[in-house]
Amino acid sequence: MQTVACDVLVVGAGPAGASAARVLADAGQKVLVVERRQAVGLPVQCAEFVPMPLMRAVHETGSRIQTVSGMLTVLPSGAECHSEFPGIIIDRARFDQGLADKAVQSGAEIWLRARFRSWDGDQARIVLDSGEIRVRPRFLVGADGPHSPVAEAIGLPPQKIVFTRQYTVPLLNPYEDTDIFLSDAFPGGYGWLFPRGPVANLGLGADRQFESDLKSPLEDLHRQMQERGLVGPEVLARTGGGIPVGGIRPMVHDRAVLAGDAAGLTHPITGAGIPAAVISGAAAGGAVAAFLAGDAGALESYAEDMMDQFGPAISRAAERRRSLESIWRRPEAREDHAMRSGWIAFEEYFAA
Ligand SMILES: Cc1cc2nc3c(=O)[nH]c(=O)nc-3n(C[C@H](O)[C@H](O)[C@H](O)COP(=O)(O)OP(=O)(O)OC[C@H]3O[C@@H](n4cnc5c(N)ncnc54)[C@H](O)[C@@H]3O)c2cc1C
Repeated sequence: MQTVACDVLVVGAGPAGASAARVLADAGQKVLVVERRQAVGLPVQCAEFVPMPLMRAVHETGSRIQTVSGMLTVLPSGAECHSEFPGIIIDRARFDQGLADKAVQSGAEIWLRARFRSWDGDQARIVLDSGEIRVRPRFLVGADGPHSPVAEAIGLPPQKIVFTRQYTVPLLNPYEDTDIFLSDAFPGGYGWLFPRGPVANLGLGADRQFESDLKSPLEDLHRQMQERGLVGPEVLARTGGGIPVGGIRPMVHDRAVLAGDAAGLTHPITGAGIPAAVISGAAAGGAVAAFLAGDAGALESYAEDMMDQFGPAISRAAERRRSLESIWRRPEAREDHAMRSGWIAFEEYFAA
């Protein structure tokens, strides 16, 4: 079997992997990214909202579709609460491809249709169309998403996952809010309608422990949105995917680090993970480059920095998930006050 050497093997060309690869290549490392898909960013599995601090990456990748200014939260009773929540709806495929292009411009090599299969602490086995090869890197970055085969290969248990289903539907009028639906019909998750220019991403997430059928509640939500006169009946695209909601995992291992969804940096209540993927990917890349250049403490600093930046918000969200888990499918879950303490738009969420 052929063996290829590099400084750093990055598994996954999503926002975390591309951000890591770019920083590593800028630091002069020989970087190989393996991505199992045939095209970076496709198929899109995302509602495509990012907050304003990601504006630079959106601008760099030319992926802006529209801005949004507020969030409309709909409670189980039908009561509505409007809050300011500015952000950008992106073309997620373009965003991911743009980040990957930057990594390649910096000197990283990306192999598509290249699937990481195993790691023995020294070599990774990669499956290509033409067969299997070994890659022997000095260091491994696992940026391979919620189910992270790299994390599994280094011995971590699977993350807790919320499953989602999403339709892209025609939007009948321009819209500038993200709508959030809190209901016992979406236990362990929520419903959303995010405007995307002339269309909208309409979706929901739920915990399979409480609900395994996502299709019927999504069709109900689609009908309700048609009755409100917001969207048309056609379903233009369908997607879905898993969101890790178990909180931050150990990120630093022997000759390997994790970033993005693989590291459990996704917000366990909102499911937002693009900002953490970009930030942790770049930070992981910087830390690995520094470590390989002789800075023995760089990797632990990476883990500490990520805990400082994301730890408090993720711990609070994980705590709120646990409280909600004790009431789903019980009458309390149909009461507004219970949902208010479990959603970021309400002050009850931030109470001690
Ligand atoms: C339906 C849905 C809607 C979402 N909406 C939003 C949103 O609006 N805003 C937001 O901030 N977040 C959202 N998220 C979460 C967000 O998409 C993730 O947090 C983000 O993609 C994490 O980036 P990442 O680079 O860590 O992982 P990913 O984007 O998952 O990238 C991992 C890459 O690794 C590759 N890979 C996996 N296994 C292997 C292997 N064995 N070998 C090679 N490659 C492999 C995958 O193909 C993938 O390209 C949503 C998620 C879902 C499912």
